[in-house]
Amino acid sequence: MSRYDLVIKGGTAVLPGHGAVRLDVGVRGGRIAALADEIPASAGRQVLDARGRHVLPGGVDSHFHVGIYRPHAEDARSESAAAVAGGVTTLVSYFRTGHHYLDKTGPYKKIFPEVLELSRGNFHCDYGYHIAPMTTAQLDEIPWLVEQGVSSFKYYMFYKALTLSADSTKGRDYAMADEYDLGHLYEMMTRVARLTKKLGKRISVSLHCENPELIRVFIQRVKKAGLAGLRAYSEGRPPLTERLSIQEAGVLADATRCPVNLLHLSSQAAIEAGIDVRRRHPWLDLTLETTLHHLCLSHDAARGLNAKVNPPIRARADRERLWQAVLAGDVDTVVSDHACCMEEHKRGDTWTALPGFGGTSLLYPVLLTEGVLRRGLSLARAVELASTNPARRFGLYPQKGAFAVGSDADFAICDLRRERKVRAKALHSAQDHTPFEGMPLSGWPVATVLRGKVVFEKDELQGGRGGRFIKRPVER
Ligand SMILES: [Zn+2]
Repeated sequence: MSRYDLVIKGGTAVLPGHGAVRLDVGVRGGRIAALADEIPASAGRQVLDARGRHVLPGGVDSHFHVGIYRPHAEDARSESAAAVAGGVTTLVSYFRTGHHYLDKTGPYKKIFPEVLELSRGNFHCDYGYHIAPMTTAQLDEIPWLVEQGVSSFKYYMFYKALTLSADSTKGRDYAMADEYDLGHLYEMMTRVARLTKKLGKRISVSLHCENPELIRVFIQRVKKAGLAGLRAYSEGRPPLTERLSIQEAGVLADATRCPVNLLHLSSQAAIEAGIDVRRRHPWLDLTLETTLHHLCLSHDAARGLNAKVNPPIRARADRERLWQAVLAGDVDTVVSDHACCMEEHKRGDTWTALPGFGGTSLLYPVLLTEGVLRRGLSLARAVELASTNPARRFGLYPQKGAFAVGSDADFAICDLRRERKVRAKALHSAQDHTPFEGMPLSGWPVATVLRGKVVFEKDELQGGRGGRFIKRPVER
């Protein structure tokens, strides 16, 4: 009788906090059961040959937007396929009421069960949700949402003027929000801080940091000058707008002692503001996040509006400053901010093209190629950025993000030697283009394992959609 359901043999394991070690992995009941220098092939009902490959803990993509522009269930199916094709075994997606997503508002007690129902049976990987309370009434639902397995909430700094500006009807209509200002954020942080204290577990607020009052003025200037394109878009929402919002977030987090995650820091000014907040308030529980695209793309290389995203793609110098922060250990998590956005929605002008695009399949290939192979990032750091740290910050650890006996047997088995150019078609996403098109990358997964089952192998999806909703924070 086989001792293990699966044995991963001959690979080089990358252990967070440690590094590369030659070892075999034994899996039983969906969890890691043994790590040893040698497990005989005969001990496994199934054997995966990982010789010459690196065995990484499955990616935890903690910034995702399932269903933002397309029907939720359909988007879950196609975009979670893109996730496992990149070695991501758990994704945590943002959801809010208002325009896009389900295009409605109301109590989360009614809407969140709908989201879970639309999700069931539609994910190739495990998944969770971050929720954005958009109305005053929804703030009171935070304790209930935590009971449902939501341990992180979101506030969009750049929506805050929607309810204050002359355009307020349009703004209210878009976000379907009421008093969406810093007072709302303060109320949110106070409630979340209280729950963190009560439960003794990290419940947090994630912030999209861009200041809308400054964006208004800068966009006016850029339009007046008749500029267009990716660089003009960045000049219309310059790094200063991030810097100001990050400092505001730091002041409120300090005052409330709420754990916070500063999302998708895109520029030198943004990362330095984040580092400054950490230095001035060392007691704060603060996450600094950046994205694949801000680490890979720059507006000086012609990529066109397909790469329009908020915050915008910046200059090459910003990109290199972000890498410097990654290498120095200042950045905690690297994510995709994946939002499937079709080419037809990118066709408008600089201001009307929809923001966002997918990238989850490239999480490990980008970190391994641009980080490990080109810039000397350690393998241990790469898996911490893409798996261990997001799992810890978002209540998934040690079920996810750990390479240890008892943890879920989630793996990305990657080939660092084989280089391949990015092609939209090969990413298994519904998105019909990619701003990363043509980029040569190594480190592509040859197999992805979710709780002991091979869900992706040899460029093909395997089996069904067995992804489960993970209630956060996890109990063990
Ligand atoms: Zn996002």
